[in-house]
Amino acid sequence: MFTPSLDGAPFSSPVGKIVCIGRNYAAHTAELNNPVPDTPVLFIKPADAACDLQAPLSIPLSQGDVHHELEVAVLIGQRLTAASEADVASALAGIGLGLDLTLRDVQSVLKEKGLPWERAKAFDGSCPLSPFVSAARVSDWQNLNFSLHRNGAQQQSGNSSDMLNPVLSLIAHMSQTFTLNPGDVVMTGTPPGVGPLEAGDTLELSLEDWILVTTSVSSPDSVEAKS
Ligand code: ZN
Repeated sequence: MFTPSLDGAPFSSPVGKIVCIGRNYAAHTAELNNPVPDTPVLFIKPADAACDLQAPLSIPLSQGDVHHELEVAVLIGQRLTAASEADVASALAGIGLGLDLTLRDVQSVLKEKGLPWERAKAFDGSCPLSPFVSAARVSDWQNLNFSLHRNGAQQQSGNSSDMLNPVLSLIAHMSQTFTLNPGDVVMTGTPPGVGPLEAGDTLELSLEDWILVTTSVSSPDSVEAKS
């Protein structure tokens, strides 16, 4: 069970589930040669996918590439079912960053066969989350700058203005299918620049001047992976 922090204190609810969107930035959609979808591509990571981004990330490396997908993460504060955008706006507790860790080689095989993506995206620890700050700080959900540096070099940088589905309407749409409860997290899609992680990497993630997290990557599989 992972309880996110909000403004430096443990949030009142642990993460229950994480609802994610694939292909919410046209430039990332293009880099993976995917078509832009007519309706949002949604998927869920279970509670055990959530973990602390500040702790060293333990990633599986025995199943091919593990890609980082840097995303703006939204912490839900009140229950949302078939919600309007106005309902959503008043129900958001926090904003932070998350990594939608993806076993890219596994996902490619699953996509080819038309199979579900869970093995590639919903494994334990597949969603490291930063500390959250109050959503009240956000004056415009569609003008948020965020970036990821890997070993000192900028790998991903995005602005939420490039989202195909803006945050409030995206969450309202998700709530038509999945009730969102306090402690649930919404991942809003990744900008271009995704790529593989390696054991020993140092990552620096930032969102506006609200969040700056430095973390490192390790792997229980790294010995086997190198042999
Ligand atoms: Zn993603």
